[in-house]
Amino acid sequence: MAPDRSADQRKIIHVDMDAFYALVEQRDNPDLRGRPLAVGSAAARGVVAAASYEARAFGVRSAMPSVKAKRKCPELVFVSPRFDVYRSVSAQIREVFAEHTDLIEPLSLDEAYLDVTQNRLNISSATRIAEMIRAKILLVTGLTASAGISYNKFLAKMASDQHKPNGQFVITPRHGPAFVETLPVKKFHGVGPATVAKMEALGIKTGADLKDRSLVFLQQHFGKSGLWYYKIARAIDERAVEPDRPRKSIGAEDTFPADILELAGAIAELKQLTAKVWGYCEGTLSGAGRSR
Ligand SMILES: [Mg+2]
Repeated sequence: MAPDRSADQRKIIHVDMDAFYALVEQRDNPDLRGRPLAVGSAAARGVVAAASYEARAFGVRSAMPSVKAKRKCPELVFVSPRFDVYRSVSAQIREVFAEHTDLIEPLSLDEAYLDVTQNRLNISSATRIAEMIRAKILLVTGLTASAGISYNKFLAKMASDQHKPNGQFVITPRHGPAFVETLPVKKFHGVGPATVAKMEALGIKTGADLKDRSLVFLQQHFGKSGLWYYKIARAIDERAVEPDRPRKSIGAEDTFPADILELAGAIAELKQLTAKVWGYCEGTLSGAGRSR
């Protein structure tokens, strides 16, 4: 488990790729750059999986029905998702994360929490680590990422939205409670539309409103979630960053410019691949030993 230390001394980074699927498509196809783009199906029942920033300017959003998106933006270009490409970019960004810590909790292909309280390069500034990670991601993938830096997952997640795209934002322990107080509850990560409606009906519109309600009141109205709302209203979130589940297999591969036809050449290449796999094993073993 995470080291035993006061919860507000942790250093957590939430890294989130900007308009991930859409920017991958614009990266790989120059004709799509600068144009309003939706990744997804244009079919009658299709849904937008991701929208480029040009499309967002028209009000196109992910999870929006494609028909509605086209109404908002008639010149919207649709491309089919290429999940194999997104997965390989995702693996590249995980390698960048792993340069700094084993405590990586992916939320999806394009975002993850990192606990960098202790980190491989012994860098004391999480802000600096986030800058290094974003610069390296840009170098390796040609894509921009945003980051939120804070002392818990709840705040880090919301911080990464503050200076999006291609930016980062820090919420220190001194500023955490005030940040939450000013935030509308509909911006709280993990508080869904039904709960937001219920809160607003009770007169709870902001974090400050939530903080005004007693624990008993919140438990009466929200059951088990009452305690969670009580805590996040105070910027308290003790959840640990949970690294990836243990892997069942590990592999490495390479594509050679020409076929290798003799044994010596094959063995030399195999040695390099084995070294790579062993490197992953060592990383995995230390991560697994810590978590489960
Ligand atoms: Mg994203």
